[in-house]
Amino acid sequence: MTDHQNNEFGGKERLIDSVATDIDRQDTSLRPVALSEFIGQQQLRDNLKVFVDAARGRQESMDHVLFHGPPGLGKTTLAQIVARELGVSFKMTSGPSIAKAGDLAALLTNLQPRDVLFIDEIHRLSPVVEEILYPAMEDFQLDLIIGEGPAARSLRIDLAPFTLVAATTRSGLMTTPLRERFGIPMRLQFYNNEELCQIIMRAAKLMSLDLTTDGAEEIARRSRGTPRVAGRLLRRVRDFAGVAGATEVDASAADSALNRLEVDNRGLDTMDRRYLRCIAENYGGGPVGAETLAAALSEQRDVIEEVIEPYLLQQGLIGRTPRGRVLSASSYAYLGLSAPKSSEQLDILNENSGKIRDGNKLDG
Ligand code: ADP
Repeated sequence: MTDHQNNEFGGKERLIDSVATDIDRQDTSLRPVALSEFIGQQQLRDNLKVFVDAARGRQESMDHVLFHGPPGLGKTTLAQIVARELGVSFKMTSGPSIAKAGDLAALLTNLQPRDVLFIDEIHRLSPVVEEILYPAMEDFQLDLIIGEGPAARSLRIDLAPFTLVAATTRSGLMTTPLRERFGIPMRLQFYNNEELCQIIMRAAKLMSLDLTTDGAEEIARRSRGTPRVAGRLLRRVRDFAGVAGATEVDASAADSALNRLEVDNRGLDTMDRRYLRCIAENYGGGPVGAETLAAALSEQRDVIEEVIEPYLLQQGLIGRTPRGRVLSASSYAYLGLSAPKSSEQLDILNENSGKIRDGNKLDG
Protein backbone atom coordinates (compact mmCIF):
# COMPACT_ATOMS: atom_id res chain seq x y z
CA MET A 1 0.00 0.00 0.00
CA THR A 2 1.38 3.38 -0.96
CA ASP A 3 1.50 6.39 1.38
CA HIS A 4 -1.33 8.20 -0.30
CA GLN A 5 -3.76 5.37 0.38
CA ASN A 6 -3.49 5.31 4.14
CA ASN A 7 -6.85 6.76 4.94
CA GLU A 8 -9.73 8.39 3.20
CA PHE A 9 -9.25 11.93 4.41
CA GLY A 10 -5.76 12.55 5.70
CA GLY A 11 -2.45 13.25 4.04
CA LYS A 12 -2.26 13.03 0.30
CA GLU A 13 -5.42 10.94 0.01
CA ARG A 14 -7.39 11.66 -3.13
CA LEU A 15 -11.13 11.38 -2.98
CA ILE A 16 -11.26 10.23 -6.59
CA ASP A 17 -8.36 7.81 -6.30
CA SER A 18 -9.50 4.53 -7.79
CA VAL A 19 -7.17 2.45 -5.60
CA ALA A 20 -8.88 0.85 -2.61
CA THR A 21 -8.34 2.34 0.85
CA ASP A 22 -8.93 0.44 4.09
CA ILE A 23 -12.33 2.13 4.39
CA ASP A 24 -13.30 0.93 0.92
CA ARG A 25 -12.24 -2.60 1.76
CA GLN A 26 -14.31 -2.60 4.93
CA ASP A 27 -17.34 -1.23 3.15
CA THR A 28 -18.38 -4.46 1.51
CA SER A 29 -22.11 -3.83 1.85
CA LEU A 30 -22.33 -2.32 -1.63
CA ARG A 31 -20.62 -5.16 -3.47
CA PRO A 32 -22.90 -7.07 -5.85
CA VAL A 33 -22.89 -10.76 -4.88
CA ALA A 34 -24.27 -12.36 -8.05
CA LEU A 35 -23.52 -11.98 -11.74
CA SER A 36 -27.13 -10.91 -12.33
CA GLU A 37 -26.63 -8.00 -9.87
CA PHE A 38 -23.39 -6.87 -11.48
CA ILE A 39 -23.99 -3.83 -13.68
CA GLY A 40 -22.00 -3.16 -16.88
CA GLN A 41 -19.17 -5.16 -18.53
CA GLN A 42 -21.97 -6.91 -20.42
CA GLN A 43 -19.92 -9.03 -22.80
CA LEU A 44 -17.46 -10.10 -20.12
CA ARG A 45 -20.36 -11.01 -17.83
CA ASP A 46 -22.15 -13.04 -20.51
CA ASN A 47 -19.00 -15.01 -21.28
CA LEU A 48 -18.19 -15.55 -17.62
CA LYS A 49 -21.67 -16.92 -17.02
CA VAL A 50 -21.16 -19.55 -19.73
CA PHE A 51 -17.83 -20.66 -18.23
CA VAL A 52 -19.23 -20.76 -14.69
CA ASP A 53 -22.35 -22.68 -15.72
CA ALA A 54 -20.28 -25.16 -17.74
CA ALA A 55 -17.83 -25.82 -14.88
CA ARG A 56 -20.64 -26.16 -12.34
CA GLY A 57 -22.52 -28.52 -14.66
CA ARG A 58 -19.47 -30.76 -15.00
CA GLN A 59 -18.66 -30.43 -11.30
CA GLU A 60 -15.10 -29.57 -12.29
CA SER A 61 -12.80 -26.70 -11.41
CA MET A 62 -13.14 -23.79 -13.82
CA ASP A 63 -10.26 -22.75 -16.06
CA HIS A 64 -7.99 -20.07 -14.54
CA VAL A 65 -9.22 -16.50 -15.04
CA LEU A 66 -7.19 -13.30 -15.37
CA PHE A 67 -9.01 -9.99 -14.91
CA HIS A 68 -7.09 -6.98 -16.07
CA GLY A 69 -7.90 -3.30 -16.14
CA PRO A 70 -7.54 -0.12 -14.07
CA PRO A 71 -8.23 -0.18 -10.29
CA GLY A 72 -11.77 0.06 -8.94
CA LEU A 73 -13.60 -1.46 -11.93
CA GLY A 74 -14.79 -4.62 -10.15
CA LYS A 75 -12.06 -7.26 -10.50
CA THR A 76 -12.19 -8.37 -6.84
CA THR A 77 -15.99 -8.23 -6.88
CA LEU A 78 -16.13 -10.48 -9.95
CA ALA A 79 -13.65 -12.94 -8.40
CA GLN A 80 -15.91 -13.28 -5.33
CA ILE A 81 -18.94 -13.67 -7.56
CA VAL A 82 -17.24 -16.47 -9.51
CA ALA A 83 -16.60 -18.43 -6.28
CA ARG A 84 -20.13 -17.85 -5.10
CA GLU A 85 -21.71 -18.90 -8.39
CA LEU A 86 -19.50 -21.98 -8.51
CA GLY A 87 -20.67 -22.76 -4.97
CA VAL A 88 -17.11 -23.04 -3.61
CA SER A 89 -14.91 -21.29 -1.03
CA PHE A 90 -13.01 -18.11 -1.80
CA LYS A 91 -9.46 -17.53 -0.56
CA MET A 92 -7.82 -14.20 -1.17
CA THR A 93 -4.21 -13.03 -1.27
CA SER A 94 -2.04 -10.67 -3.29
CA GLY A 95 1.21 -10.84 -5.25
CA PRO A 96 3.30 -8.72 -2.84
CA SER A 97 2.09 -10.58 0.25
CA ILE A 98 3.34 -13.99 -0.96
CA ALA A 99 6.95 -13.53 0.06
CA LYS A 100 8.24 -17.11 -0.12
CA ALA A 101 7.50 -20.25 -2.11
CA GLY A 102 6.38 -21.82 1.17
CA ASP A 103 3.67 -19.16 1.64
CA LEU A 104 2.11 -20.09 -1.69
CA ALA A 105 2.52 -23.81 -0.95
CA ALA A 106 0.61 -23.34 2.32
CA LEU A 107 -2.22 -21.58 0.52
CA LEU A 108 -2.44 -24.15 -2.27
CA THR A 109 -2.33 -27.23 -0.04
CA ASN A 110 -5.22 -25.84 2.03
CA LEU A 111 -7.58 -25.57 -0.94
CA GLN A 112 -10.54 -27.92 -1.23
CA PRO A 113 -11.47 -29.37 -4.66
CA ARG A 114 -12.78 -26.64 -7.06
CA ASP A 115 -12.09 -23.77 -4.62
CA VAL A 116 -11.24 -20.31 -5.96
CA LEU A 117 -7.89 -18.79 -5.02
CA PHE A 118 -7.80 -15.07 -5.79
CA ILE A 119 -4.41 -13.39 -6.25
CA ASP A 120 -4.66 -9.61 -6.56
CA GLU A 121 -1.79 -7.68 -8.16
CA ILE A 122 -0.41 -10.85 -9.70
CA HIS A 123 2.16 -8.84 -11.68
CA ARG A 124 3.96 -8.27 -8.36
CA LEU A 125 4.66 -11.97 -7.70
CA SER A 126 8.34 -12.77 -7.16
CA PRO A 127 9.99 -15.00 -9.81
CA VAL A 128 10.58 -17.80 -7.25
CA VAL A 129 6.91 -17.90 -6.31
CA GLU A 130 5.91 -17.73 -9.96
CA GLU A 131 7.96 -20.87 -10.70
CA ILE A 132 5.95 -22.77 -8.07
CA LEU A 133 2.71 -21.52 -9.57
CA TYR A 134 3.33 -22.91 -13.09
CA PRO A 135 2.99 -26.67 -12.32
CA ALA A 136 0.29 -25.88 -9.77
CA MET A 137 -1.82 -24.16 -12.44
CA GLU A 138 -1.08 -26.65 -15.17
CA ASP A 139 -1.07 -30.05 -13.48
CA PHE A 140 -2.29 -29.27 -9.94
CA GLN A 141 1.08 -30.30 -8.59
CA LEU A 142 3.58 -28.66 -6.29
CA ASP A 143 7.28 -29.19 -6.81
CA LEU A 144 9.12 -28.18 -3.66
CA ILE A 145 12.80 -28.35 -2.82
CA ILE A 146 13.35 -29.39 0.79
CA GLY A 147 16.65 -28.56 2.44
CA GLU A 148 19.82 -27.10 0.95
CA GLY A 149 23.08 -28.25 -0.61
CA PRO A 150 23.81 -31.98 -1.13
CA ALA A 151 21.01 -32.96 1.26
CA ALA A 152 18.39 -31.10 -0.75
CA ARG A 153 15.66 -33.22 -2.29
CA SER A 154 12.62 -32.45 -4.34
CA LEU A 155 9.15 -33.27 -3.20
CA ARG A 156 6.07 -33.52 -5.40
CA ILE A 157 2.65 -32.93 -3.84
CA ASP A 158 -0.70 -33.44 -5.57
CA LEU A 159 -3.12 -30.56 -5.12
CA ALA A 160 -6.89 -30.47 -5.29
CA PRO A 161 -8.00 -29.12 -8.68
CA PHE A 162 -8.65 -25.42 -8.08
CA THR A 163 -9.43 -22.26 -10.03
CA LEU A 164 -6.94 -19.42 -9.87
CA VAL A 165 -8.59 -16.05 -10.39
CA ALA A 166 -6.02 -13.30 -10.68
CA ALA A 167 -6.26 -9.55 -11.10
CA THR A 168 -3.78 -7.06 -12.46
CA THR A 169 -3.75 -3.40 -13.35
CA ARG A 170 -0.61 -3.98 -15.45
CA SER A 171 -0.83 -7.15 -17.51
CA GLY A 172 2.12 -5.84 -19.55
CA LEU A 173 4.34 -6.38 -16.50
CA MET A 174 3.43 -10.07 -16.26
CA THR A 175 5.78 -12.62 -17.77
CA THR A 176 4.49 -14.28 -20.92
CA PRO A 177 4.56 -17.83 -19.47
CA LEU A 178 2.42 -16.73 -16.54
CA ARG A 179 -0.05 -14.82 -18.72
CA GLU A 180 -0.38 -17.78 -21.06
CA ARG A 181 -1.40 -20.12 -18.26
CA PHE A 182 -4.73 -18.33 -17.88
CA GLY A 183 -7.34 -19.98 -20.10
CA ILE A 184 -9.76 -17.10 -19.59
CA PRO A 185 -8.19 -13.64 -19.87
CA MET A 186 -10.74 -10.84 -19.44
CA ARG A 187 -10.28 -7.10 -19.76
CA LEU A 188 -12.50 -4.71 -17.82
CA GLN A 189 -13.43 -1.39 -19.42
CA PHE A 190 -14.33 1.95 -17.85
CA TYR A 191 -18.09 2.24 -17.25
CA ASN A 192 -20.28 4.67 -19.17
CA ASN A 193 -22.40 7.26 -17.35
CA GLU A 194 -25.60 5.26 -17.73
CA GLU A 195 -24.06 2.21 -16.05
CA LEU A 196 -22.52 4.34 -13.30
CA CYS A 197 -25.91 5.93 -12.73
CA GLN A 198 -27.48 2.51 -12.19
CA ILE A 199 -24.64 1.54 -9.83
CA ILE A 200 -25.10 4.79 -7.86
CA MET A 201 -28.90 4.42 -7.67
CA ARG A 202 -28.49 0.85 -6.42
CA ALA A 203 -25.93 1.93 -3.79
CA ALA A 204 -28.13 4.87 -2.68
CA LYS A 205 -31.02 2.46 -2.17
CA LEU A 206 -28.83 0.18 -0.05
CA MET A 207 -27.79 3.23 2.00
CA SER A 208 -31.46 4.33 2.32
CA LEU A 209 -30.54 7.62 0.68
CA ASP A 210 -33.20 9.46 -1.28
CA LEU A 211 -31.26 10.32 -4.43
CA THR A 212 -32.94 11.74 -7.54
CA THR A 213 -31.97 10.48 -11.03
CA ASP A 214 -30.35 13.80 -11.91
CA GLY A 215 -28.45 13.69 -8.61
CA ALA A 216 -27.11 10.26 -9.60
CA GLU A 217 -26.22 11.57 -13.06
CA GLU A 218 -24.25 14.41 -11.51
CA ILE A 219 -22.21 11.97 -9.41
CA ALA A 220 -21.80 9.54 -12.35
CA ARG A 221 -20.34 12.26 -14.58
CA ARG A 222 -17.65 12.92 -12.00
CA SER A 223 -16.78 9.31 -11.20
CA ARG A 224 -14.03 8.73 -13.79
CA GLY A 225 -15.84 5.73 -15.27
CA THR A 226 -15.04 3.88 -12.00
CA PRO A 227 -17.55 2.29 -9.58
CA ARG A 228 -15.16 2.63 -6.62
CA VAL A 229 -14.96 6.39 -7.18
CA ALA A 230 -18.74 6.55 -7.64
CA GLY A 231 -19.28 4.82 -4.29
CA ARG A 232 -16.85 7.13 -2.54
CA LEU A 233 -18.35 10.32 -4.02
CA LEU A 234 -21.82 9.09 -3.10
CA ARG A 235 -20.77 8.61 0.54
CA ARG A 236 -19.35 12.14 0.70
CA VAL A 237 -22.43 13.64 -0.95
CA ARG A 238 -24.53 11.81 1.64
CA ASP A 239 -22.39 13.36 4.41
CA PHE A 240 -22.91 16.88 3.07
CA ALA A 241 -26.63 16.32 2.58
CA GLY A 242 -26.93 14.86 6.09
CA VAL A 243 -25.21 17.82 7.71
CA ALA A 244 -27.32 20.25 5.66
CA GLY A 245 -30.44 18.41 6.89
CA ALA A 246 -31.60 17.61 3.32
CA THR A 247 -34.01 14.70 2.94
CA GLU A 248 -33.56 14.39 -0.80
CA VAL A 249 -30.31 14.64 -2.77
CA ASP A 250 -30.76 16.21 -6.21
CA ALA A 251 -28.34 17.46 -8.86
CA SER A 252 -27.74 20.80 -7.19
CA ALA A 253 -27.05 19.22 -3.77
CA ALA A 254 -24.65 16.75 -5.41
CA ASP A 255 -23.03 19.52 -7.45
CA SER A 256 -22.40 21.77 -4.46
CA ALA A 257 -20.98 18.90 -2.38
CA LEU A 258 -18.64 17.81 -5.16
CA ASN A 259 -17.53 21.38 -5.85
CA ARG A 260 -16.57 21.73 -2.22
CA LEU A 261 -14.52 18.58 -2.60
CA GLU A 262 -12.84 20.16 -5.64
CA VAL A 263 -13.91 17.42 -8.03
CA ASP A 264 -14.91 19.20 -11.24
CA ASN A 265 -17.66 18.24 -13.65
CA ARG A 266 -15.32 15.99 -15.64
CA GLY A 267 -14.29 14.09 -12.52
CA LEU A 268 -10.84 15.71 -12.42
CA ASP A 269 -9.35 16.83 -9.11
CA THR A 270 -6.41 18.95 -7.97
CA MET A 271 -3.94 16.14 -8.62
CA ASP A 272 -5.07 15.70 -12.24
CA ARG A 273 -4.88 19.44 -12.83
CA ARG A 274 -1.40 19.56 -11.28
CA TYR A 275 -0.35 16.72 -13.59
CA LEU A 276 -1.70 18.40 -16.75
CA ARG A 277 -0.36 21.81 -15.76
CA CYS A 278 3.07 20.33 -15.05
CA ILE A 279 3.32 18.90 -18.61
CA ALA A 280 2.02 22.16 -20.13
CA GLU A 281 4.11 24.59 -18.13
CA ASN A 282 7.32 22.69 -17.39
CA TYR A 283 7.67 20.49 -20.47
CA GLY A 284 6.04 22.52 -23.25
CA GLY A 285 3.21 19.97 -23.59
CA GLY A 286 5.57 16.96 -23.74
CA PRO A 287 6.71 14.43 -24.62
CA VAL A 288 7.85 13.73 -21.08
CA GLY A 289 8.65 10.38 -19.47
CA ALA A 290 6.73 8.88 -16.55
CA GLU A 291 9.78 8.83 -14.32
CA THR A 292 10.45 12.55 -14.85
CA LEU A 293 6.81 13.39 -14.19
CA ALA A 294 6.75 11.28 -11.04
CA ALA A 295 9.78 13.16 -9.72
CA ALA A 296 8.36 16.56 -10.68
CA LEU A 297 5.05 15.79 -8.94
CA SER A 298 6.60 13.96 -5.96
CA GLU A 299 4.39 10.96 -6.70
CA GLN A 300 5.25 7.33 -7.17
CA ARG A 301 5.54 6.21 -10.78
CA ASP A 302 2.96 3.45 -10.18
CA VAL A 303 0.41 5.99 -8.99
CA ILE A 304 1.01 8.12 -12.07
CA GLU A 305 0.69 5.17 -14.43
CA GLU A 306 -2.03 3.16 -12.77
CA VAL A 307 -4.26 5.75 -11.18
CA ILE A 308 -3.90 9.16 -12.78
CA GLU A 309 -3.10 8.45 -16.41
CA PRO A 310 -5.63 5.79 -17.52
CA TYR A 311 -8.59 8.15 -17.09
CA LEU A 312 -6.82 11.17 -18.60
CA LEU A 313 -5.90 8.99 -21.56
CA GLN A 314 -9.43 7.68 -21.92
CA GLN A 315 -10.70 11.26 -21.83
CA GLY A 316 -8.32 12.24 -24.63
CA LEU A 317 -6.54 14.76 -22.40
CA ILE A 318 -3.17 13.08 -22.84
CA GLY A 319 -1.61 10.72 -25.35
CA ARG A 320 1.29 8.33 -25.10
CA THR A 321 4.11 8.32 -27.62
CA PRO A 322 7.29 6.24 -27.58
CA ARG A 323 9.07 9.30 -26.14
CA GLY A 324 6.62 9.99 -23.34
CA ARG A 325 3.34 11.65 -22.48
CA VAL A 326 1.95 14.56 -24.52
CA LEU A 327 -0.96 16.92 -23.88
CA SER A 328 -3.81 17.11 -26.41
CA ALA A 329 -5.40 20.35 -27.62
CA SER A 330 -8.49 19.55 -25.54
CA SER A 331 -6.26 19.42 -22.50
CA TYR A 332 -5.02 22.94 -23.22
CA ALA A 333 -8.63 24.06 -23.68
CA TYR A 334 -9.49 22.43 -20.35
CA LEU A 335 -6.64 24.31 -18.63
CA GLY A 336 -7.61 27.56 -20.38
CA LEU A 337 -4.23 27.76 -22.14
CA SER A 338 -3.52 28.15 -25.85
CA ALA A 339 -2.31 24.98 -27.52
CA PRO A 340 0.78 24.49 -29.69
CA LYS A 341 0.02 22.99 -33.14
CA SER A 342 1.38 19.54 -32.37
CA SER A 343 -1.24 18.91 -29.70
CA GLU A 344 -4.03 19.55 -32.24
CA GLN A 345 -2.47 16.96 -34.49
CA LEU A 346 -2.49 14.55 -31.57
CA ASP A 347 -6.24 15.06 -31.16
CA ILE A 348 -6.85 14.32 -34.85
CA LEU A 349 -4.66 11.26 -34.68
CA ASN A 350 -6.47 10.04 -31.60
CA GLU A 351 -9.90 10.57 -33.13
CA ASN A 352 -8.94 8.73 -36.30
CA SER A 353 -7.48 5.71 -34.62
CA GLY A 354 -10.02 5.61 -31.78
CA LYS A 355 -7.04 4.85 -29.55
CA ILE A 356 -8.02 7.04 -26.67
CA ARG A 357 -11.30 5.24 -26.05
CA ASP A 358 -9.47 2.51 -24.24
CA GLY A 359 -8.15 3.38 -20.81
CA ASN A 360 -6.18 0.15 -20.63
CA LYS A 361 -3.88 1.31 -23.43
CA LEU A 362 -1.40 2.43 -20.81
CA ASP A 363 -1.03 -1.18 -19.78
CA GLY A 364 2.50 -2.42 -19.91
P1 ADP B 1 -10.95 -3.75 -8.29
O1 ADP B 1 -10.70 -5.10 -7.69
O2 ADP B 1 -11.03 -3.79 -9.78
O3 ADP B 1 -9.99 -2.69 -7.81
P2 ADP B 1 -13.42 -3.87 -6.74
O4 ADP B 1 -13.98 -5.18 -7.18
O5 ADP B 1 -12.77 -3.84 -5.40
O6 ADP B 1 -12.40 -3.27 -7.84
O7 ADP B 1 -14.61 -2.80 -6.82
C1 ADP B 1 -14.51 -1.53 -6.26
C2 ADP B 1 -15.82 -1.09 -5.67
O8 ADP B 1 -16.74 -0.81 -6.71
C3 ADP B 1 -16.47 -2.12 -4.77
O9 ADP B 1 -16.99 -1.46 -3.63
C4 ADP B 1 -17.61 -2.69 -5.57
O10 ADP B 1 -18.70 -2.93 -4.75
C5 ADP B 1 -17.93 -1.59 -6.56
N1 ADP B 1 -18.25 -2.13 -7.88
C6 ADP B 1 -17.38 -2.52 -8.81
N2 ADP B 1 -18.01 -2.93 -9.92
C7 ADP B 1 -19.33 -2.79 -9.68
C8 ADP B 1 -20.49 -3.03 -10.47
N3 ADP B 1 -20.41 -3.47 -11.71
N4 ADP B 1 -21.68 -2.79 -9.91
C9 ADP B 1 -21.75 -2.30 -8.65
N5 ADP B 1 -20.68 -2.02 -7.86
C10 ADP B 1 -19.48 -2.27 -8.37
